[in-house]
Amino acid sequence: MGSHADEIKKEVVLYSKLMDEKGLVNSLEGNLSILDRETNELYITPSGTRKCFLEEDMIAVLKDGVQIGGSKKRSSEYLLHLEALKTRPDCNAVAHIHAPYLTAYAYCNKDIKLKCSTTFSLVFEEIPCLPYGEPGTVHIADGIAEAMKDHDLILLGNHGCIAVGKTLEDACKIVEAAEEVLKIYQLTKSIGEPVDIPDDKLESLYENHPSSRRNRYGKK
Ligand code: 13P
Ligand code: ZN
Repeated sequence: MGSHADEIKKEVVLYSKLMDEKGLVNSLEGNLSILDRETNELYITPSGTRKCFLEEDMIAVLKDGVQIGGSKKRSSEYLLHLEALKTRPDCNAVAHIHAPYLTAYAYCNKDIKLKCSTTFSLVFEEIPCLPYGEPGTVHIADGIAEAMKDHDLILLGNHGCIAVGKTLEDACKIVEAAEEVLKIYQLTKSIGEPVDIPDDKLESLYENHPSSRRNRYGKK
């Protein structure tokens, strides 16, 4: 059996490849990480690398922001990952992705609030957008503490999105779900006017559905 570190590297490689297969990351856009909270070591994809070519030894290992392992240089967005993980001690994984439909909203600096989709209403309720912050600096994460307090997925203005989860599966699956909903939303608009779920019915869904966002974070 491999070490815990090997298992984590395998998982980062696996999800990087899955995201690449779906066209959600490419050589210049997107990065994934897992934090081992026991050792405080961050395992993150290397910078500027085609994710389908990743191998375990290329995964960068960082401790206190300093690279201590991995054959390639850590992602330029490691500070963004560390800020998100600091904000959410209940989470151990981060997916920073430039998913096209989500990123289109980020380019418009627009929060996403859809009322026509049960998936969106249950999983997200809303996806807020942070104002522009310079990529590769800690400023890309300005405002993240407030926004990520009760949102697992947020948009980064003019840039892309970031999701947190207990595992990479959790972080990646919500990006995929949001991307899918937005794709369908654009399709819907080519057919007709999307019909919103009435506010009182949405309220009932938020309150009563066991996996609604409100019930996952506790009532406000
Ligand atoms: P890296 O290739 O350095 O991980 O950066 C990609 C990216 O998404 C920059 O914001
Ligand atoms: Zn990016």
